[in-house]
Amino acid sequence: MFDNLSDRISKTLKGLRGQGRLTEADIDKTVREIRRALLDADVAVPVVRQFASRVRERALGAEVSKALNPAQQVVKIVHAELVEILGGATGQLQFAKNPPTVIMLAGLQGAGKTTLAGKLAKHLKEEGHTPLLVASDLQRPNAVNQLQIVGERAGVKVFAPEPGNGVGDPVVVALDGVATAAREQYDVVIVDTAGRLGVDEEMMQQARDIRDAVEPHNILFVVDAMIGQDAARVAEAFRDGVGFTGVVLSKLDGDARGGAALSVTGITDRPILFASTGEALGDFERFHPDRMASRILD
Ligand code: GDP
Repeated sequence: MFDNLSDRISKTLKGLRGQGRLTEADIDKTVREIRRALLDADVAVPVVRQFASRVRERALGAEVSKALNPAQQVVKIVHAELVEILGGATGQLQFAKNPPTVIMLAGLQGAGKTTLAGKLAKHLKEEGHTPLLVASDLQRPNAVNQLQIVGERAGVKVFAPEPGNGVGDPVVVALDGVATAAREQYDVVIVDTAGRLGVDEEMMQQARDIRDAVEPHNILFVVDAMIGQDAARVAEAFRDGVGFTGVVLSKLDGDARGGAALSVTGITDRPILFASTGEALGDFERFHPDRMASRILD
């Protein structure tokens, strides 16, 4: 996924291997190439700028190491800065002292929220939790049905509005869902919400209304890794419009160059908790910044 980016970074750094000392000109050349590679990988411009200047600063200030040659030292710095920008330590869900823990999903239509809801429910079930899925996406005609299908596949119960009751109010459904979980002793509630094709004030208001009603312990912003540069803009809009505690990067199986990961964490300073890597329920993994940084470099 990061082939382009990693190839280019390593090519430049390989050129530096074997040299006894790293000059300021060498560092500038490397940083320029890293900057170009990141821009080509669709990383948001402010993130690229910040990343490049931090790498340059650290490379210039780096102590001469006996154990590493200068190029290895730059690799180490780039790795550390990648980990940093990707959120540092592996992000964790927050679990409530008094269950149920409420997890709300937010993101554009098509981002992969409903699919993710099923994957997350399956994952939590495997970890020993008893999750309940709540269908608060009443915007898309098929969304409730789709959630019921993924719930069935995951072996997890879905709380949905009664059919035939009109359009229904997503806030009421979310509240009823959380109340049902508390009553029936589910310890985690995953609330699926409606997106729109683009950033939209009505969508943000509805997400805020659901948020204020159910006071989630976690709000996960689900973003399609394939949307490249747009990921930063959409993430910023959701951060300001709804706020979120963590990110799920979906469609990492596609030919996205992965710039979205760096953009979203770099812009919003929120960790990526999970990655979605396909349409099947099992295509789901924890996101580890250090592993991702190694993959980018290796
Ligand atoms: P929502 O509108 O945010 O609820 O998005 P959906 O969960 O309905 O996903 C939109 C489309 O993307 C569906 O066709 C999913 O099967 C597909 N999808 C979701 N996650 C992934 C993923 O990680 N990889 C791939 N290839 N497709 C995905």
